[in-house]
Amino acid sequence: MSHSPARGILRCHARIDLAQLRGNLAAVRRHAPGKQVMAMVKANAYGHGMIECARVLRGEGVEYLGVAFAEEGQALRNAGDAGNILVLSPPLPQEAAMFCEYNLEFVACDAEVLNAFNHEAGTRNLTLNAHVYIDTGMHRDGIFTAQACEFADKLSRCSHLAFRGLCTHFAHADAADKTFTLQQLSLFNSAAEQLKQAGYSFDLLHAANTAAMSDIAASHFSLVRLGISLYGYPASAEIEQAPAVQPVLELRARVNALRIVEAGESVSYGRRYTAQRRERIATLSLGYGDGLMRSLSNRGHCLIRGRVFDLVGTICMDECMARVDDSIKTGDEVVIIGRQGDLMIGADRVAEEAGTIAYEVLAGISARVPRHYSDHTEAASGIENQSREFGA
Ligand SMILES: *Cc1c(COP(=O)(O)O)cnc(C)c1O
Repeated sequence: MSHSPARGILRCHARIDLAQLRGNLAAVRRHAPGKQVMAMVKANAYGHGMIECARVLRGEGVEYLGVAFAEEGQALRNAGDAGNILVLSPPLPQEAAMFCEYNLEFVACDAEVLNAFNHEAGTRNLTLNAHVYIDTGMHRDGIFTAQACEFADKLSRCSHLAFRGLCTHFAHADAADKTFTLQQLSLFNSAAEQLKQAGYSFDLLHAANTAAMSDIAASHFSLVRLGISLYGYPASAEIEQAPAVQPVLELRARVNALRIVEAGESVSYGRRYTAQRRERIATLSLGYGDGLMRSLSNRGHCLIRGRVFDLVGTICMDECMARVDDSIKTGDEVVIIGRQGDLMIGADRVAEEAGTIAYEVLAGISARVPRHYSDHTEAASGIENQSREFGA
């Protein structure tokens, strides 16, 4: 038995086009001209590989990298990143040493954290950058606008902490109706105004995610925090002025086996699919253990030999099945996300079929899926981008 995969096609892998990542950064910069960019590389850069993406984005001069947890910042430092890194989930007081050790900036919204971080920074004789986080309606993290001055006063008494930025986060900027987002924006502007009136100064004001960056220029302030647009998708289908970005990642697998199933016979666990006639069923080399959501059972699609086929039956951990025609052979390449011939399946399309958002589809591509990187500048030119969404 041969150990090399049929025709050299890997079991399941992601292809990441770093030139397109650069192209997307250029597109968002044209959309928010003159603004600093915080590239969100949390959650393994939305599944694209944090270290590799961070390296490319830093090479293009992004001013900040954004992560969710200190451990992600630590991994960036260990890979040699020396730039500004902001950790966007509020830390606990016990994490002070970690933030000092790796020179990570933090979102400030808790007095105990201020004290612990100030104390630790003092013993090491360094200064940590704080971004005061205002809760303007997301109700996840942050202090309310009414507490801004009192909190800034506490911060100003911490001689080893610097008031580097003021920030907030939008709850519904990806909706067509921007009413709530404009209310949040107004609360944020009011917090900034109150702080300035009280004599506090800070370098950066930031609020916009991809959705707000796309549709609301007044939300750009000094810096925009961008995730999904860098990876090539609009924040939602309701965005009106999405920058011209293209997907960076493709998810591919191969046909592992083929069989004929007679009319009335079932396929896969739970017998949730029954063949209506004599059908040809291909077994594909990926499953929910790779991040292919089980909710795509009997709903998803794939591309093989440039044509679209239905996924049938329950998605298993390591394999899933598709109903195919006579032309399909063992070892054929399967595209779950990406292009083949003149067809393409976007992560947003997969998300729609799975009842979720492109973010979850991308971030859910599991650690066992090998990432293969390419960096050909032609790929960003648009020549390859002629494919149409099937069914569109
Ligand atoms: C993840 C995140 C972002 C980026 O959101 P996108 O919609 O992917 O651009 C911005 N700000 C905060 C606080 C985040 O957690």
